[in-house]
Amino acid sequence: MSLEFVLATHNAKKVREFQRLIGERMPQAVVLPYDGPEPVEDGLTFAENAFIKARTAAEHSGRIALADDSGIAVDVLGGAPGIFSARWAGESAGDEANVQLLLGQLADVRRPNRGAEFHCTIALVVPDSVLAGGHEFVAEGSWRGSLAYEPRGSHGFGYDPIFEPEGLEVTAAELQPAEKDARSHRARAFVELLPELERIAARLEG
Ligand code: IMP
Repeated sequence: MSLEFVLATHNAKKVREFQRLIGERMPQAVVLPYDGPEPVEDGLTFAENAFIKARTAAEHSGRIALADDSGIAVDVLGGAPGIFSARWAGESAGDEANVQLLLGQLADVRRPNRGAEFHCTIALVVPDSVLAGGHEFVAEGSWRGSLAYEPRGSHGFGYDPIFEPEGLEVTAAELQPAEKDARSHRARAFVELLPELERIAARLEG
């Protein structure tokens, strides 16, 4: 069953992860590039922000749109950075500045109090022009672990170099891409989304 959709993200590393997940689990899907507007992410939850991005992309492209909003929630920070993960060290901060700020904030926190989890929410928006009445769906995934004392590894992106997944002694950035895909928050959310994508493909074909 084939399905065409746009991925509403401008984060090239996230796009690459999605392409791997889609290629592995729904190889017949066609992922189209999206270069439309990037809306202001002023929602208060991952789901609100994911829907802001997916609705804008669906409206702009006239196609089915998928958008992910994700981040890391640190236990001793009450779930922060959470939805502010991408800009924790400032609006234009990069991954390294975000990681260094977080490590500094946890400088006095010892194990076992360095627990954290990645969270990913994927919003799916089918515009009325594709399916009469339109359709929306949301899927979520999380990945538990703890924060390392310093960055290790060169794979992945964002907070991967300081995230040690539960049960492993390496950071997410030391995992091979396929090993991250087998357990990540993004993979779990995508697996939850898959049956819905298949239902939509069947409706469009039927
Ligand atoms: P978003 O693009 O607004 O959803 O921001 C997500 C931010 O959360 C990214 O910039 C990363 O800092 C962080 N993040 C989300 N997923 C991951 C991941 O898989 N690994 C590392 N950091 C992540």
